[in-house]
Amino acid sequence: MVTGDANYIKKFNRDIILQKIIEHGFISRADLSKITGLNKATISVQVTDLLAEELIYETEQEHTTIGRRPILLSLNPKAGYVLGVDLDYKQIQYTLADLLGNPVMTDMINLETDNYEEIIQLLIQQIKNYQMKCPESRYGLVNIVIGIHGTINKDTNSILFVPKYQWSNKQIKNDLQKDIKIPIVIENNANLSTYAERVFYHYNCDNLITLMISSGIGAGIMIDGKLQRGYHGYAGEFGHMIIAPEGEQCPCGNKGCWELYSSESILIKKIEEDQQRSISYEDIQQLIDDQHQKTLNHFNHFINFLSIGINNIINIFNPDIFVLTSKLLSIYPDSVNEIEEKLQSSVSQYGKIVLSNLDNHSCVMGACAVAIQNFLDVPELILTPPEI
Ligand SMILES: [Zn+2]
Repeated sequence: MVTGDANYIKKFNRDIILQKIIEHGFISRADLSKITGLNKATISVQVTDLLAEELIYETEQEHTTIGRRPILLSLNPKAGYVLGVDLDYKQIQYTLADLLGNPVMTDMINLETDNYEEIIQLLIQQIKNYQMKCPESRYGLVNIVIGIHGTINKDTNSILFVPKYQWSNKQIKNDLQKDIKIPIVIENNANLSTYAERVFYHYNCDNLITLMISSGIGAGIMIDGKLQRGYHGYAGEFGHMIIAPEGEQCPCGNKGCWELYSSESILIKKIEEDQQRSISYEDIQQLIDDQHQKTLNHFNHFINFLSIGINNIINIFNPDIFVLTSKLLSIYPDSVNEIEEKLQSSVSQYGKIVLSNLDNHSCVMGACAVAIQNFLDVPELILTPPEI
């Protein structure tokens, strides 16, 4: 809501100017004025402030024809750094990134414990390490976002439930902020992945579904540009859609849940049973390359069941872009075509189905993007895809 309050308007103008500078990469004051509709005096005052804050810098345009070379403005990505954290089961992924989302450090750390208090202490210790390792900059480490593989309470401060750890009602934000003074945000991992897809790849898309297929199946749902959480924060638990009446028993209490047929761990388990050994993604890639018939049959079965659930989701949401995040689908040739061939309903409508480019970095990159947006306080963020 725009009010007559001068500070509010000043802040509103500042945010929109900063957003446009990020979006364009390099832009002159005159073009900023044209794009935002703000007059040149307002642009000038705001730009002076942003330069003093070292959030932007000036540079002369190269390769111009005759005349004065225009001064261009650009975001200073090295003014500060953000930390994205993906707190998965038995492992934590950290990415330290600059203000344009370029990763400067990424680590995967295995967890030996599933005890909440011990993990909190580890997180505190490791976050402090990143604070120390952060390159020298005006603001240092400015914001931390942690992806949780479970449900977040509506207050966005606490965990409602994390199935794999069996944690319920944990005040994780408060527990961390007792020792960490940098602002921390917690968010569901699928929501962060969806946010990453939008910020780095599909910024024109307002109706986006991101399906995360790993040991279970979860999803982030964006409708009309807004992430959907549902009443308790459980929205997107598609893995527990029932697709087989009187099917296999699920730990959730029901029978025939989708993720009992279409999660990566189910497919891996079947291939391992055949091979009588534990297998890696590289082994599976080799079996596919060798055209190993039993493995291909398992993939066929997996894709069949996957398509049933995707069909159902498409009918509910009519998405523009449907992103699939799955390492197994990305190594299996033509997986998207095979899925699309099975979507035969004339009623189901969607824009397109794509594989995620971010793979298992999507949560941590979404966390970095949210952290950047929190720090810069811009209404929207569009960033160049990271090199990962
Ligand atoms: Zn279930």
